[in-house]
Order: sequence, then structure tokens, then C-alpha cells
Amino acid sequence: MDADGCVLDVGRTARRATRRQRRAILTRYTHCMVDHCPMPAHLCQIDHITNWSDGGTTDLDNLGPTCQFHNRDRYRNPAHYQLHQVGKNRWGFTYTSPRNQRN
Ligand SMILES: [Zn+2]
Repeated sequence: MDADGCVLDVGRTARRATRRQRRAILTRYTHCMVDHCPMPAHLCQIDHITNWSDGGTTDLDNLGPTCQFHNRDRYRNPAHYQLHQVGKNRWGFTYTSPRNQRN
């Protein structure tokens, strides 16, 4: 719940983040979740860390900001992104180039 007592986790009942969830996410993140991406969080889309199509929930701990490019690229090429935790309640993705994976 947020400070007004509104529920912030909606599980599988809704795919899109609510306005209150977006506001809460913007207090956690300053930029796109992908390492070194300069896109400010307020200009990003709210993305599911575990994709909705893979059973991910629309809960705060499974949501974060990604720019449009990284949102689409991560969905199309999930093997190129490695998830890591940042602090207590934030996540980040490290892009791993396919060229680096051949070594
Ligand atoms: Zn990005």
C-alpha cells in the first residue's frame, strides 16, 4: 500500500501499471533500468521484470522503468540481458553483447 492506503500490487488482474504504481516506481529509479542508459525514468515505460507473457505480475517488485528501445529489445532478446539487484528494492539489467558470449 502507498501512503494513502491504496493497494500497489495488482498481481495478474491488470497488465498495465497503475498511475500510483508509476509514481512509486519513479521514487525508486532515476533512469532506465538498463545499466548506463541515460533515459530519465520519467520518460520511460513501466516494464515487467519477469515479462507478463511469462507469467510476471503487475506488482511493484516486478516493475521498473525501461526506455522504449530497451523495453522492446529486452523482450525480443532476453538472453542479452542479465538481471541484478540494485539496493533493497530495485533491479537493473546489464546488456551482454552476443559477441561477448561467443568467447
Ligand atoms: Zn534504456
